[in-house]
Amino acid sequence: MAEDEYVIKALLADFPFLREIRDYVAERGLRLEDFEGNNEYVAAAVKKVEEALLRWPSKPLERFRTSDVEILSHPLAMAMIAMLESTFAKRRFAAYEAERYAAMLKNIREEQKKAIAYVASEVLGIRIREGQPPHEFWIHFADYLKLAVDLNEPRFKLVNRLLDKGYVAVTRAEAITLVKNGLEKLIHQRLEQMGKIPTPAFLADYVERLRQKLESMRQRESSAAVKLDPDKWPPCMQALRKRLLAGEPVSHFGNFAVAAFMLRTGMTVEEVMNVYMQRGDFDPRIARYQVEHIAGLKGSRTKYSVPKCETMQTHGLCIEEGKLCGGIKSPMQYYRRKAAVRVDKKGLEKV
Ligand code: SF4
Repeated sequence: MAEDEYVIKALLADFPFLREIRDYVAERGLRLEDFEGNNEYVAAAVKKVEEALLRWPSKPLERFRTSDVEILSHPLAMAMIAMLESTFAKRRFAAYEAERYAAMLKNIREEQKKAIAYVASEVLGIRIREGQPPHEFWIHFADYLKLAVDLNEPRFKLVNRLLDKGYVAVTRAEAITLVKNGLEKLIHQRLEQMGKIPTPAFLADYVERLRQKLESMRQRESSAAVKLDPDKWPPCMQALRKRLLAGEPVSHFGNFAVAAFMLRTGMTVEEVMNVYMQRGDFDPRIARYQVEHIAGLKGSRTKYSVPKCETMQTHGLCIEEGKLCGGIKSPMQYYRRKAAVRVDKKGLEKV
């Protein structure tokens, strides 16, 4: 093995997706039942699942530790996610793991460029070439499209990129973002491929506890302190919120509209981010920036208005052509009307 390659492999020893690590796990011939009575491994897997589903992104990412327990508990953690049979859990776990690997790539001090290229080609099968700053990498356009498909930022659109002989120029930071996106898809795909895994008796209590914690966290998040019960929101905003909470894709404009709406109703940036957390491609840094931007706390300092019904209709986001809304002109008008007649036990209460 070339010395370079040896260094890169040593640096990436924590990547359970590298062939060498997979081979190492396979050599041990581990089956699920082999973890029975092996409390250290089970505890490490439960911890990993809890970190991903319940703590991240409010709590910083766990650091990597190279150890047998860390490496061998990974497939067990994946199996436990499959046992939960939750679309949300799969998406969140994939996003969390991808974020961890991206953080690890960012923290590599030496040979970082080689490590990025190695993960891109070896783990993700991407055709990538190293270049010179600012174009430190060149990625084949077909692979680039696969990696950038869910990235909403205009700079990632192919029309805004420099192309040369079928290869797209990317900076080092962009390469890490693209690799992260690719890893997230790969992990999610692996979880989907695992299908349903029956829970063995020795894991039943752990899985049940995880399921209950997950359920109560999701209930807490979905009933984030809002000024008016989401059931009273205009139908278009209710529909967008439901899609976000279910982790379903929402268009760029839909995201903007519902974020602007939630902020205008008095929800805080954190409360709005909680709704976005369900998205598979949730990136706390980008989400915070975008929400703060819409709230007028960043960039041009413009506090964005909620789009009018006419604009919502143009983007196909109005529900039943407004038949449920009684001829109003904007979702905020609908909200204010509902708020004005909101009555609780203490009498009439205005928001
Ligand atoms: S009429 Fe306006 S408030 Fe009602 S669903 Fe359509 S866009 Fe939303």
